[in-house]
Amino acid sequence: MTAICAGVLALQGSVEPHLRALSRAGVDPIELRRPDQLDQITHLVLPGGESTTLHHLLELHSLSSEIPQRVEAGDLALLGTCAGAILMGRECQESPPRWNLIDVEFQRNGYGRQVHSFIEPIEWIAGPGPGASEGIFIRAPRIGQLSPPVEVIATLGTEAVAVRQERCVACTFHPELTEDDRLHRWFLSL
Ligand code: GLN
Repeated sequence: MTAICAGVLALQGSVEPHLRALSRAGVDPIELRRPDQLDQITHLVLPGGESTTLHHLLELHSLSSEIPQRVEAGDLALLGTCAGAILMGRECQESPPRWNLIDVEFQRNGYGRQVHSFIEPIEWIAGPGPGASEGIFIRAPRIGQLSPPVEVIATLGTEAVAVRQERCVACTFHPELTEDDRLHRWFLSL
């Protein structure tokens, strides 16, 4: 069995809260900024922030092809939140380019602008669930059409807000900004 080694992409956005959540979940995560660091890890978190900026920084740091390649090769599990989730989704008309790792269309700012950010309880229906949790939605993307093998793991009312496809997990809200580490703990088990 491979030992679990986790990292957080540390180029932009909500990096520190994910590092703290992973530490609480029992690992000692690295801050990832270079392709060679990918050799050290089995699990990577792509934090929220701004997906176009994240895309440009990934290109600058020669990580934009390396990360999806390792996921496709089965060497890396990936958890993307908000802007991170957007990158993992299905290619569509919107920028930035998507990685096609999860067969879901993420519509950027799908609930409205910054002033329409909100906190609502979400329900884990698979993955780390069952149970409720606080869902912090900050200029969150909205999940559009989805098809198998995508599994819905959390809902807000009748809408999917977190999904999983194999070892890829995408979440449109910010679990790292709460004290609830269930998603991080479950992710490390994938
Ligand atoms: N709206 C942002 C984007 O499109 C994502 C916001 C977030 O990560 N909280 O990239």
